[in-house]
Amino acid sequence: MGAVHTTIHTQGSSRESTCSSCPVADVICRTTELGLTIEGAFIGDGDITVIQARPVEAVPFCPTCGAEGVLRDHVTRELTDLPVAGHPSRLHVRLPRYRCVGEQCSQVIFQHRLECAQVGAKTTKRCYLVDPAETQRLEDECEGRR
Ligand SMILES: [Zn+2]
Repeated sequence: MGAVHTTIHTQGSSRESTCSSCPVADVICRTTELGLTIEGAFIGDGDITVIQARPVEAVPFCPTCGAEGVLRDHVTRELTDLPVAGHPSRLHVRLPRYRCVGEQCSQVIFQHRLECAQVGAKTTKRCYLVDPAETQRLEDECEGRR
């Protein structure tokens, strides 16, 4: 178990970690099924595997008017995900935020919407598919170890 854990850590520590994705880590953590690709990872406080990821595809279209937005900045969304090699894991997803340029549009700023988590959720949807009670326990564990 420890070997897998170490592999991810090594990948995330590479010099190029901020601009290249990790195909190996993507496979281990199955992040592609979440529409995400891993950019890096490290071991956080309390032995939590923190996985830095970004959406595979940018979706720069305004949810209100459908116009293509202008990239404004990025926000990081934290999501509890399934354990990796027996260790609790947390995703740090870097989401692009856009400014809508639609003339009649009331939506000023919008951010990339994740398929893998509901709006405002702190947990990826696939956790719930496994076991809701277990998901709650994982979340509590992550919160408690901060
Ligand atoms: Zn708009």
